[in-house]
Amino acid sequence: MTAPLRVAVVGSGPSGFYSAAELLALPDLDVTVDMFDRLPTPFGLVRAGVAPDHPKIKSVTRVFEKTAAKTGFNFYGNVEVGRDVDAEELAAAYDAVVYAQGADRGRRAGFPGEQLVGNHTAAAFVGWYNGHPDYCGADFNLAVTRAVVIGNGNVALDVARMLTMPVTALEATDIASHALHALRHSRIEEVVVLGRRGPEHAAFTAPELEELGALDGVDVVVDAADLPDAGGDDSRGKLSMLADFAMRHATPGNKRIVLAFHTRPIEAVGARGVERLRVQRDGKQHNISAGLVIHAVGYAGSRLAGLPFDDRRGVVCNERGRVLGYPGVYVAGWIKRGPNGVIGTNKACARETIEVLAADARAGALASVPAAQESLRRKLVEREVVDFGGWTVIDEHERAVGQVSGRPRIKITDVAEMVAVSQRRLG
Ligand code: NAP
Repeated sequence: MTAPLRVAVVGSGPSGFYSAAELLALPDLDVTVDMFDRLPTPFGLVRAGVAPDHPKIKSVTRVFEKTAAKTGFNFYGNVEVGRDVDAEELAAAYDAVVYAQGADRGRRAGFPGEQLVGNHTAAAFVGWYNGHPDYCGADFNLAVTRAVVIGNGNVALDVARMLTMPVTALEATDIASHALHALRHSRIEEVVVLGRRGPEHAAFTAPELEELGALDGVDVVVDAADLPDAGGDDSRGKLSMLADFAMRHATPGNKRIVLAFHTRPIEAVGARGVERLRVQRDGKQHNISAGLVIHAVGYAGSRLAGLPFDDRRGVVCNERGRVLGYPGVYVAGWIKRGPNGVIGTNKACARETIEVLAADARAGALASVPAAQESLRRKLVEREVVDFGGWTVIDEHERAVGQVSGRPRIKITDVAEMVAVSQRRLG
C-alpha cells in the first residue's frame, strides 16, 4: 500500500474548504488534508465577511462541516503561516500545499486626505461588524449624520445597509455585540454611495439592490438624470429598479441611502479628521459634508514570504492554480484570481487547482521530506492549536450564549478567549 498524498491547505474560507472537498473526493488518490487557519475559528469570509443579515448565504458552512467530518481531514486553527510556520517548512513537510488565504487587505480609492481620521476601508468596517478579532478595536465615528461609501460593488451596498437598517432587525442576527451597541447609538441619517461611473457599469447585483429598496425605514434616493436612456441592456433588471427608486417620494422621518453615480471623490478635507469630501460630477466640483468615509473599492491579497507575488493584482503569480517554479505549491480562491465572484465561484476555482495538483501527483512530481514532517509536528505541539472539535465547542458556546438574549449566536471576538473556550471539552 502506498502512503497517502499529504496536502496542506492554508486558509479555511470557501476556497480552502472547496479545495479540501475536491482533494478528499479524488477517486484514484488517497489524500490527507491538514487545513491551517491563523484564527481558532474556521470559514474565513463566511464568518467574517458575509453580512450578518444574510444567514442563508452563511448556511454554506453545513457543506464545509461535512468535509471536515471526512476521514483524512484535520484542522489546525490558531496557526499562522508566515508567523508560526513558514512557506518553506510547509513545502518540505507536505507533498503539496494549497494557499487559499483570500485577500485580506481593503483597498483605498487613492486621493489626497484619505489618511485623515474618519477614512476607513470596508475591510475594517466589515471585519468590525462581523467580530473579526483584528478589527474589534476599530473606532467608527457614528456621531455624525452623514457617511459616504466609495464604490459601487456589493460590499458598498452591505456597508450602506448596515449603517441604515433598523437596529431591531440587526438584533436578530449574529452581528458582533460591540457593533450592535454602537449602531444602536448611531446618529447616521444619510449614507451617500459614490459610483465613479454610471449605473449601467455598477458592480453590485440585482438581488442586493432590490434588498436595499425593501429596507424598513430607509428611502433609496436616485437622480433620474443619472440613468442612461431607455433601450440599453437591462437584462439584469438593475436599471429598471433604479428608475423605480428615482420615482419614489421621500418618507418623512426615514433614513436615506443616496446612490450618486458619475461622482468621483477627489479629496478628503478636515482639520483633525475628515469633515467633507470634495467630489467631481459633470465637470464641476462639489462638497459633501461627512465625518465618516468608507472605501469599498475592493480587496487585495497580502504578500507571503517565500511565494512569488503580483503586486499590481494583489495575487500570488500562478497558472491555473499552479505556482510556477515552486513545485508542489498551488493557490485557490481570491489569492489566485483576485477578489471577485460569489462564494460558489470558489468551487470551480478550487476544482481547477486540484485537477492540476492531482495531475502532478499522478506524474510523480510531488514529494515531502519525512524529517521536515517530524520537525513541523514538534513545532505544532508547542502551539495552542484548535482542532475542528475545539471549534465545535466554540460554536456551541456562541450559540448557547446567543440563545439567552434571543440571538442566533454571540461571537467571541478575542483569540485568547476562543482558545480558552475550545479547551473546555477537556475539563
Ligand atoms: P467589486 O465588486 O470589485 O466593486 C468595487 C467597486 O469599487 C466598483 O464599483 C469600482 O468601480 C469601485 N472602485 C474601484 N476603485 C475605485 C476608485 N479609485 N474610486 C472610486 N471607485 C472605485 O468589489 P467588492 O464590492 O469589494 O466585492 C468583492 C466581491 O465580493 C464581488 O465579486 C462581490 O460581488 C462579492 N460580494 C458579494 C456579495 C453578495 O453576494 N451578497 C456581498 C459582498 C461581496 P469601477 O467599476 O468603476 O472600477
